Amino acid sequence: MRQTDGYRHKGLRKKLVDSIRDKGIDSEEVLEAIGRVPRHLFMDSSFINFSYTDKAFPIAAGQTISQPYTVAFQTELLEIKKHLKVLEVGTGSGYQTAVLLELGARVYTIERQRQLFLDAQKTLGPLNYKPVFFYGDGYEGLPSYMPFDRILVTAAASEIPQSLLNQLAIGGILVIPEGGKRGQKMIRVIREAEDQFQRTEHGYFSFVPLLRGKNQ
Ligand code: SAH
Repeated sequence: MRQTDGYRHKGLRKKLVDSIRDKGIDSEEVLEAIGRVPRHLFMDSSFINFSYTDKAFPIAAGQTISQPYTVAFQTELLEIKKHLKVLEVGTGSGYQTAVLLELGARVYTIERQRQLFLDAQKTLGPLNYKPVFFYGDGYEGLPSYMPFDRILVTAAASEIPQSLLNQLAIGGILVIPEGGKRGQKMIRVIREAEDQFQRTEHGYFSFVPLLRGKNQ
């Protein structure tokens, strides 16, 4: 039976939004977007009762659905506005994708795990979320669709892939966790001119690694 969204879930979501606000997210647009996405429909059934706790949980292929606070934090750094063209590397469950779409972005999302690429389409389609899905290696970005106003990487890279910097529009923003297994720094890069990139650091996080190639 397909799961639905009801008053109980909406109530739990409101509490989740309050807790994320208390942790320091102050963009009302981002908080409202989190408040609209039915996270329980993106979770593995064994964890569904924990959908509105502010934690990451396992999904298929040994990956995770990001913690809502982390999703809100990355989204806030991206300064999403309506109609911006966004590349998301690491579709995963599709939860972050839905948050970007709630903010009116046009989303191109890429996933290297075939199972997740397929599952995310099954989740997002019936909810009327319509990104453009790609199965491939996000290290390479999507050269035929560049430039992007925003690029979001939801997996950890030891260094920022040059191909992604190349695909960022002038005035565009890239957000990526940078570092190894033990934790990463959240990095924001603003492309100020063709050859001019301004880099800032925004605290420590823990993501699954960005891996090369794609996986059957
Ligand atoms: N935003 C997602 C986070 C998923 S975890 C969510 O909230 O559900 C990060 C995802 O990045 C994983 O699904 C992983 O398979 C994917 N990934 C890792 N390396 C990748 C690459 N090179 N290209 C595309 N996706 C990648």
